[in-house]
Amino acid sequence: MKKFPQRTVTRAFMYLRALDSLIEEGKAYVSSGELAAMTALTDVQIRKDISVFGKAGKPRVGYDTRRLKQLLEEYVVQNVVHVVLFGVGNLGSAILRYPGFQEDKIKMVAAFDSDPNKVDKAINGISIYSLDKAKLLIQKKHVEIGVIAVPKQASQQIADLLVSCGIQGIVNFSPTTITVPKGIFVKNIDLAVEFLSLFWDMNAKKAPRYA
Ligand code: NAD
Repeated sequence: MKKFPQRTVTRAFMYLRALDSLIEEGKAYVSSGELAAMTALTDVQIRKDISVFGKAGKPRVGYDTRRLKQLLEEYVVQNVVHVVLFGVGNLGSAILRYPGFQEDKIKMVAAFDSDPNKVDKAINGISIYSLDKAKLLIQKKHVEIGVIAVPKQASQQIADLLVSCGIQGIVNFSPTTITVPKGIFVKNIDLAVEFLSLFWDMNAKKAPRYA
């Protein structure tokens, strides 16, 4: 299996999302320009990426949407990813409601919360359990990724629990750093940081030049 840089893989997921909606609309072919408009990337970048993944295009016709989807999936979606979520509050509930997590590539299998009033209910068909059920369920359902959406004071406790259950990938939404053993992959997602860094980029562009 060929190894691609993480950025290329991230873009491949963006192409896949665009291809899914094109296929849904019944489009058999797409040009790099159309894909560029859908993904906010450049058509040069798209042509370069796709040429690395394989041959799916016809001159003057475009890329065969189904063939391209198949090519990309061969590299980036080897298996269904099984995910669990901890903390069914504002953010956690919104994540559970997102239909994209019940598709063939990502399966949200269970959610956990420490509040007894939230346990034994379901959102979007995903059951909410108490924390003591986590280990058994995570192992039984072969979960690979755990999402942390609890208040920051509880996030290290949940990270420890995830690691003790054998999970190797954690998506951390809490605004704090979690400590994990070597070999565990953590992705920190902080919308505030994204907003501020965008704002920084915007201002850096506008900054006056001093000669
Ligand atoms: P919330 O208070 O609405 O929900 C938190 C949920 O976690 C509650 O249901 C609570 O019962 C549960 N909980 C608390 N301790 C727990 C534990 N030990 N184990 C399991 N469940 C536990 O909070 P929210 O607004 O949904 O935010 C959740 C987290 O996400 C916070 O850390 C917040 O700062 C963060 N957040 C991040 C972003 C982002 O962009 N990364 C955006 C919004 C919120």
